[in-house]
Amino acid sequence: MHRTVRTQSLFWFLALLLLISCTRKPQKTIITGEAQGTYYQVTYIDGSNRNFSKEIDSLLRTFDHSVSLWDDSSIISRINRNEKGVKLDSIFRVIFTKSMEVAKRTEGAFNPCVGPLVKAWGFHRKQGKLPDSVLIAELLKHIDYRKIWLQGDSIVKSDTNIELDFNAIAQGYSADLVASFLRKRGISSYLVDIGGEVVAGDMKPDGSLWRVGIEKPSDSASSEREIETVVEIANKAIATSGTYRKYRLENGRRYSHTIDPQTGFPVNHSLLSVSVVANDGITADAYATAFMVMGAEKAWRFIRDNKDLGLEAYFILDDNKSNFRIIQTPGFVDMLSKTQEK
Ligand code: AMP
Ligand code: MG
Repeated sequence: MHRTVRTQSLFWFLALLLLISCTRKPQKTIITGEAQGTYYQVTYIDGSNRNFSKEIDSLLRTFDHSVSLWDDSSIISRINRNEKGVKLDSIFRVIFTKSMEVAKRTEGAFNPCVGPLVKAWGFHRKQGKLPDSVLIAELLKHIDYRKIWLQGDSIVKSDTNIELDFNAIAQGYSADLVASFLRKRGISSYLVDIGGEVVAGDMKPDGSLWRVGIEKPSDSASSEREIETVVEIANKAIATSGTYRKYRLENGRRYSHTIDPQTGFPVNHSLLSVSVVANDGITADAYATAFMVMGAEKAWRFIRDNKDLGLEAYFILDDNKSNFRIIQTPGFVDMLSKTQEK
């Protein structure tokens, strides 16, 4: 009799355990921090509720040690100083190769060698006075991306003044790397946001998509972030380039941090911001910058003529009145959230 009661209790205990484990909801984890001079926020759904903050942080440190211009001992800084025998890592190789591919496809609108001009306009460490046209003409001679290439395990330059700047593409790729880190640990449902460059994984367990807000261009870099629209995505990346958050104000004029490599001057047109959706972060980030250089019309034609890239875009233009003008590709319209709850 005593034995039967014990067996029964054990049965109910095990049944209860089974019930709890079956009904336990996968946990949502949110990890935040700082890297590449910006914030990051990684959200993922994990049945085992693991916390990967240390690993993600160290992954992003390794990343900076490869391609950050703010780290004097990074691979990119050493290449820019023409140090001999610099050992490249896979992060550097992937970004370099992709940068060259996008530079060729966009006929140099995207140019990873635009660094000397970015510096001259005051967007790297010290600001200084605005460059004059003589200096710009001089610097324009040293931004040809065909004067630097990969040869075996090394980088070779035919002009030692050539410098690399991966700031237009690096964030997007770092988001891809965090996404693949999570996938390797069996997590497929995530949203990785590194300074606004976002990579989304599978849908959430309840079948809903990941919601990503697109910022409304504002009058000043410090003003509150307001949302213009919301997209819903899964297994896609979205990146935004704009003239309204990072710029230099001089005599009441704004100078954007996006440089037109043809003129050597900061871009100056009605396109305030462009958001690009692509299959991965590195592609979305690179083309968002390229489109900022091209302007909306040229970018529109580029998307139409380069369908193999699978890009969709949302352009916010200044209409010279108090409103914005929005232009978006049909595929982008399909991704807009029906509820638009912000
Ligand atoms: P993003 O915010 O991704 O558009 O990147 C802007 C950054 O990319 C700038 O701060 C520069 O460091 C760099 N950059 C500026 N102009 C260009 C260009 N035409 N092609 C590639 N990188 C650029
Ligand atoms: Mg970019």
